Amino acid sequence: MALMIPCPHCGRRPYGEFWASGELPEGGHGVEADVEADYRRVWLRRNVAGDQRERWFHHAGCRRWLTLTRNTITNAIHDVV
Ligand SMILES: [Zn+2]
Repeated sequence: MALMIPCPHCGRRPYGEFWASGELPEGGHGVEADVEADYRRVWLRRNVAGDQRERWFHHAGCRRWLTLTRNTITNAIHDVV
C-alpha cells in the first residue's frame, strides 16, 4: 500500500502527488543572524528515528505547501496543517 498523505484541502492522496521538501528545520525557515546557526539550519539534518516535522508540496492537487509530522519508522502521518 502506497503512503497516503491526508491533504487538508484534497483529502487522502497518494504520496506520488507530492514533492517532499524534507525535514522542517528547528526554528522554521527564517534567516539567522548567526552564521553558524544559519549553516546548521540549512545543511544539517537531525535524521531522527521517530516523529519528524516535514514540508510537502501537493503539486498534483491543490498546489499548496503542507506541514505534517511523519514517523520515519512507520510512515504514520499526523498533525497536518
Ligand atoms: Zn491538496
